[in-house]
This record gives sequence, structure tokens and C-alpha cells, in this order.
Amino acid sequence: MRIRVLGSAAGGGFPQWNCGCSNCEGVRHGRIRARARTQESLAVSADGDEWFLLNASPEIRAQIESFTPLQPRSPRDTPIAGILLTNGDLDHCLGLLCLRESQPLTVYATDAVRRGFIEDNSLYATLERFPGQVSWQRLMPGHPQPLHGSGGRSARLSVEAIAVPGQPPLHLRERVRPSPEDNIALKLTDERTGGTLCYMSGVAASTEAVRAAAADASALFFDGTFWSSDELIRLGLGSRRAEEMAHWPIGGPAGSLHALEGVGRGRRIYIHVNNTNPVLREDSPERRELTAAGWEVAHDGLELEI
Ligand SMILES: [Zn+2]
Ligand SMILES: [Zn+2]
Repeated sequence: MRIRVLGSAAGGGFPQWNCGCSNCEGVRHGRIRARARTQESLAVSADGDEWFLLNASPEIRAQIESFTPLQPRSPRDTPIAGILLTNGDLDHCLGLLCLRESQPLTVYATDAVRRGFIEDNSLYATLERFPGQVSWQRLMPGHPQPLHGSGGRSARLSVEAIAVPGQPPLHLRERVRPSPEDNIALKLTDERTGGTLCYMSGVAASTEAVRAAAADASALFFDGTFWSSDELIRLGLGSRRAEEMAHWPIGGPAGSLHALEGVGRGRRIYIHVNNTNPVLREDSPERRELTAAGWEVAHDGLELEI
């Protein structure tokens, strides 16, 4: 399985358009050792020919253009065989609305995420120009299923959705009842090589299911949004703690770095990194601590093969 990081930042990207924090200002003006990053998305393929995207970021057009294998092979074409959504947050699904040029799409999502995206959403009509323009495939936590290629090609990848602690998206918070299907991790298996990718870009807290899935992965991508619980509060940029935004911080005695010590059997990579996170600075003490514990920080363009 070939894996390409298309985007590695949390919602807002790095730098974020309206943020003047020291990280954003530093990267904007080249004053810190850090790379700019677009909002989180992965491209995955078993054969290098047909690709599946994990999440559809608002920057999807530029992300497709940044990676030749995702570009059309004929006058109207896409090698993107399907798009999988981990939750309904806009940084993870707004990109669907950017793929509106009458291209048939296959989208894998839980029923809760599908409903949250299409119900009462007048903009969704842009993806309903002809019957069946979007084919929704329902992800049911705990039920592994094949990821079918286009044109009836046989599936070499399978996916299992794993319910993980999270929240409904901010814009639906007042309208929907929270559901265990609001936020999932994705476990993708290459049926030929047995390689497993565990993708957990939003995790509010540790559970047995989180630990078990992480332990089993040949490649683990994990929620790296915040280093500390009060990161936004201390910077005067927000009033909510990381956990209140459904993100388990990396650092500290209760953080994921400590809790997942020794968990996983392959590369372990933090992704969905918020622009305020000190690990974005390649020479920060927090980055050193993370690296010493055997973890990496995803950057746009990172590729691996499992
Ligand atoms: Zn997000
Ligand atoms: Zn910032």
C-alpha cells in the first residue's frame, strides 16, 4: 500500500489566514524552522493506479495538482476511486463541494456523517446534477468491507471503521444528537501484503479500541492537533481546552505520547497538527521529545509504503 500525505495541518492550515501567532508569523516570514502545511488529507493506493482519499480538505484542488498520480489520464477522468470521511468537520469534507465538475464520486462515510453533510444543505445540489452522481457507501463501525475500484475492478484494499471518542461537527452541534458514528478511525488493509494503515486524525480520548487499533498498525497516523490542553487559552486565541474540542493533547503525563509509549509495530506519525502546536518547529524541545519517543510529524508530501 502506497501512502501519500496530501495535507497534514488541522483545520485552518499552517499558516492560518487570520492567525498572527508566533508560529504562523514565523513560517509566513521564514523566521522559524518549520514548513507550511495544508489541511489534513491522505491518498492511499494498493496498485499505484487507483487512489482513495482519506478526507476531502478545502484545499483538495491544489492537493490533487501537487501529486501527479491523482491527475486525469484522459480528457475527463480521475484516478480517485473513492473518498473516505472520518467525520463531518468542514476541514474534512468541504473539499467534496469543490469536486463539482459533474464527476461521479464514491464517498464512504457513516450514516451520521452522510446525513450531517447532505440534510438541509442547499449547496449539496451541486453534487446532484444527475442521478447517482455521488454514490454513498455506508461505513459501519466494526464491519470490515472492501474498497471497490471504479469500473468493477476487484478490491485489494479493505476498510474497517472504528468508532472513537469525538463530537458532531461544530456547525451541527445544536441540531443533531451526538452519535458514536460522529467520529471514526479508519483501518485500511492491503489484502495482498497484509499491511495495515491505522488513521486516527481526530481522537478525543483514549479507549481500549483506540489502543488496540494503534497497536496493530503497520503505519499509524494519530491526532496531533495540540501539544497541550490549554494551548489556545494560553496564547489568548480561544477559550476551550483541547479535550473540549475533541482532541487528545500530545504532551504531558496524560498526553497521547506517554499513553501510547511502545504501542504500534511500524512508523508512528502525528497528523492534523494545529498551527499553534510547538512540534511544528523542528528545533523545539517538544519536537525533540516527540522524536526521541519514536514518533514523526507528518508534512505535506510525505510518502510511505507498507
Ligand atoms: Zn479537523
Ligand atoms: Zn497561528
